[in-house]
Amino acid sequence: MDLQRTALPAPPMDLLQHASLFLDFDGTLVELAAQPDGVSVEDRLHDLLARLSIKLEGRIAIISGRPAAQVRKLFRDPPFAIAGSHGHELYWPDGRIVTPTNDGQHDSLLTQMRQLEDRHPGLIVEDKPFGVALHYRLAPQAGDDCIHLAKRLATEKGYQLQTGKMVVELMLPGADKGEAVIALLSQAPMAGARPIFVGDDDTDEAGFRMATRLGGAGILVGAPRATAAVFGLDDVDATLRWLEAAGGAAP
Ligand SMILES: [Mg+2]
Repeated sequence: MDLQRTALPAPPMDLLQHASLFLDFDGTLVELAAQPDGVSVEDRLHDLLARLSIKLEGRIAIISGRPAAQVRKLFRDPPFAIAGSHGHELYWPDGRIVTPTNDGQHDSLLTQMRQLEDRHPGLIVEDKPFGVALHYRLAPQAGDDCIHLAKRLATEKGYQLQTGKMVVELMLPGADKGEAVIALLSQAPMAGARPIFVGDDDTDEAGFRMATRLGGAGILVGAPRATAAVFGLDDVDATLRWLEAAGGAAP
């Protein structure tokens, strides 16, 4: 697939007709925060997703790197599916939860990352259900050390390395956002519907590629860059406005 580097066209207003909508969270629906717990879901977003869920007859899901339980809490037990931890966890709207078992390496990863955290004020280690993330937005001088450590641990422990915006993360292998799209599309109510994936970061590329492969499309949020998405929206605000106009307008 050719990667696009030029500015992408805005998605058409009828793109969500009969579609299944997959939404990244941070940097897509809410602005990136300096710390992972520094975000909240405002009423505007809460109401928008509730209306979209009705319009799309439940064919909507959040696919986030955050733990699924955290996303569910932020949205106050929403009526849609959540894929958390980059697709490792699936929370279905009917209450079913599908998660893998951890592999016993987690504590060792956490210990080594905490040692680095102790040396760099501002560096934040995030303990996640199926991985560990190092956030260096508040300690940019530690970025190289973070990436170096994460690369070494990924090799030693057989973990998957994922870089993002001022964050580097080690994840239990075997899942990505594209796999989450397949899993969610395998069952009602999404089965058979065209997938539309909206996201802003490197981890969303797997979602864009899978959506395209399955007859749908990706929408990149943010500045043009090499991407598998075919449509673009400038920022979080433009994304919310497009979602409202394309199907989630207040009555
Ligand atoms: Mg994001």
